[in-house]
Amino acid sequence: MPLELHNFEWEGERLVQRETEPHHIAGVLAKIRWVLENSDCDWEDVYSAYYVCEEDGTVTFYEGESAEAGNPGIWTYVVYSCPVGSEEVVKNSDINTLAPALEMQQLIYKLIFEELAQYRQQLGLTPAGSEDDRATIAKLEIGGSVFFGISAGSNPNRRKITLKVNPISRTHAEADAFQQAFDAGLRGGKARLTVDRDLCRACGQNGGVKGMARQLGIEEIEVISPSGRQTITLI
Ligand SMILES: [Zn+2]
Repeated sequence: MPLELHNFEWEGERLVQRETEPHHIAGVLAKIRWVLENSDCDWEDVYSAYYVCEEDGTVTFYEGESAEAGNPGIWTYVVYSCPVGSEEVVKNSDINTLAPALEMQQLIYKLIFEELAQYRQQLGLTPAGSEDDRATIAKLEIGGSVFFGISAGSNPNRRKITLKVNPISRTHAEADAFQQAFDAGLRGGKARLTVDRDLCRACGQNGGVKGMARQLGIEEIEVISPSGRQTITLI
């Protein structure tokens, strides 16, 4: 019977776990970069990816946040041919699967925020998180469109915020992004908000972002910030 591993079926193959090396990590990262750049980024592909290395005959699996796998991890196996029916997976519990996965997550986050970092640069703003950084950039993806919002203090083209929102969030990058989408007439569906600073209390906990999303009729919004991602369901 073919064996199942990381959602793949393996027939006539024997997998022997080995250490994950930097070139395996680089291979997985390249695949994730491709997904981010060339498709309407499906987060399943960002948090779960694999890479086949022809040179050393390995396959590397990355699970960023899989409930099934428990913790984030990276597993590299050497793939050997074997008679059908003798498939097996030889694991090695001495191999650290968590450390390279955490390294991988850092690299992915860098990729995710790369576009925002470039946008900052164009505006002449200092990098996010740097000591004299006072700005925030937010990117809102909705209905196939993308809107970049800038916090009011750093925004060369401040917009009138007609959305109903608390006075603190009103000057924040999130409101600038939502207002643009609102003005463009975009409504409903799913959206994704990527912000290069964690949501402040007014935008996050106190519902600033949720309220603006509701005014656009958004059903579900995914919020990605430096400390992680969360999904807000509005229905
Ligand atoms: Zn805020």
